[in-house]
Amino acid sequence: MHFVDAKGILTTNGGRCGMNIYRGCSHGCIYCDSRSKCYQFTHPFEDIEVKQNAPELLEAALKSKRKKCMIGTGAMSDPYMHCEMELGLTRKCLEIIRMYEFGLAIQTKSDRILRDIDLLDDINRAAKCVVEMTLTTFDDELCSILEPNVCNTKRRIEVLEEMQKRGIPTIVWITPILPYINDTEENVSQILDECARVGVKGIIDFGMGLTLREGDREYYYEALDKHFPGLKRKYIERYGNAYDLPSPNAKRLLKLLREKCKENNMLYKPEDCFEYMNELPERFEQMSLFDIDN
Ligand code: SF4
Repeated sequence: MHFVDAKGILTTNGGRCGMNIYRGCSHGCIYCDSRSKCYQFTHPFEDIEVKQNAPELLEAALKSKRKKCMIGTGAMSDPYMHCEMELGLTRKCLEIIRMYEFGLAIQTKSDRILRDIDLLDDINRAAKCVVEMTLTTFDDELCSILEPNVCNTKRRIEVLEEMQKRGIPTIVWITPILPYINDTEENVSQILDECARVGVKGIIDFGMGLTLREGDREYYYEALDKHFPGLKRKYIERYGNAYDLPSPNAKRLLKLLREKCKENNMLYKPEDCFEYMNELPERFEQMSLFDIDN
């Protein structure tokens, strides 16, 4: 890893602010979109760039904000990689979010998030905290191939269960669904049943498939050659160089998703899930009658 002083930390998109404390990721997911060339990494993806001044930047940004909002993190890089246990930057940022009573939507695949459960609890009580977890396969062996350096799905479900006990709402990303790999009804069904059992609020999926582009495609195909001999050829024949690679079972899986979610009162349209994650209840938004949104 290497350290930098970033110029800024918060980006604003619609009603939601986003931040990435780290750049690059060590979880090693074979399908990782963040590896794509379009993100213009100037260092190897596993050589994590640490924005060492993230807490100071965040505090300055929140101090100057006139209106509170949800702050999202974890979209481009997991906030609970191994290095976080040593550096504690995510924890420091959560302390600042708690201090200024902003909301938080935090996405991870790691059970290390449990280290900060006290802060998540406090943020949820003072404003709102949503924990987002990605679940792609219920099969432990497959999980260790797809997402080799992070805890498996069963452990992630235990994390979701812990959130449920504390009343912290959760959203699950059931994505990507990899053609001919995890795109079975059995897999999707098992994941959704567990989500329902642990009270997940909503499921995000983008059409039951995978996206690939330059940078990420090469890495994915290397992994296919290593773990699923012959599958790369099948992909190339079916999808060529397409960006969207929907599973051949997409229709059936989407139907299953809709049915299971309706049955169990879980949100299943991405726009509904995002609306829920971006929305800070009005009583928390107002800081004073005279404040102006910045
Ligand atoms: S956790 Fe996310 S950012 Fe990290 S390797 Fe996996 S897909 Fe990429």
